[in-house]
Amino acid sequence: FGITLLATSVFANPDVAGGPSTPKQKYDYQSDVARLRKIVINSLYSHRDVFLRELISNANDALEKLRLTALTEREVLEGAENLNITVKAVKSEDGPGRIIITDTGIGMTPEELTQNLGTLAKSGTTEFLQKAESSTDTSGTGNLIGAFGLGFYSSFLVADHVYVASIAAKSSRNPEPVQHIFSSSADDSSFEVYPDPRGNTLGRGTEITLVLKDDALDYLETFRLTDMINKHSSFSSSFPVYLFTQR
Ligand code: ADP
Ligand code: MG
Repeated sequence: FGITLLATSVFANPDVAGGPSTPKQKYDYQSDVARLRKIVINSLYSHRDVFLRELISNANDALEKLRLTALTEREVLEGAENLNITVKAVKSEDGPGRIIITDTGIGMTPEELTQNLGTLAKSGTTEFLQKAESSTDTSGTGNLIGAFGLGFYSSFLVADHVYVASIAAKSSRNPEPVQHIFSSSADDSSFEVYPDPRGNTLGRGTEITLVLKDDALDYLETFRLTDMINKHSSFSSSFPVYLFTQR
């Protein structure tokens, strides 16, 4: 599948941040997550482009997982018919620019949001950390990214704040999924998880909102996004990628 370019004049501007009445659960990052995030944020500036590759590859994994699960549990397909990935570039006059990456994959429960994004369960990451911390020049670290993949935390290369809204696929174990948000800023040692104040907007899957750093706003340009998606993801994605830009 390749990339399809679509234009829209209006984007919903939903409040993912929630208000004072939103019941928020606060967690501290595990210590090696804190270490990894520091490396990501401080030393990988020249490899910022990888964020999109990592997020699209996660979306692809989630869709693949859904497709496999659906072979034995049809009900996981409920909630969202199509299996796809969308990328939206949202420019704003009075607020920060945002990139929103959505997939209709397997999704995450609030426990999975906490576990999968707040801790490093991945094998190989410890090794990455040791190598990255002992490597003095950042180009060495850059090579490590290619070898290990940096994963979700590469979001913080370009974003001051990241919101992950997710609703898990319906199953016998999870008959009534509720959409939740994982929220974290780049310079925080903790993150929050709370019910999405917008309710169930996704049907099924995951939506990642990157609130871009001031020096990352050129990623909103259509040609940059197309370029990056084509370079990194068009061959590795087995699901269609739709890029929405503002007219
Ligand atoms: P990796 O992909 O190597 O496991 P990541 O840091 O990229 O590591 O992602 C961590 C975990 O978060 C994934 O293993 C997955 O469980 C979960 N995850 C990340 N993005 C998504 C997504 N779009 N949909 C569902 N789960 C996701
Ligand atoms: Mg990944």
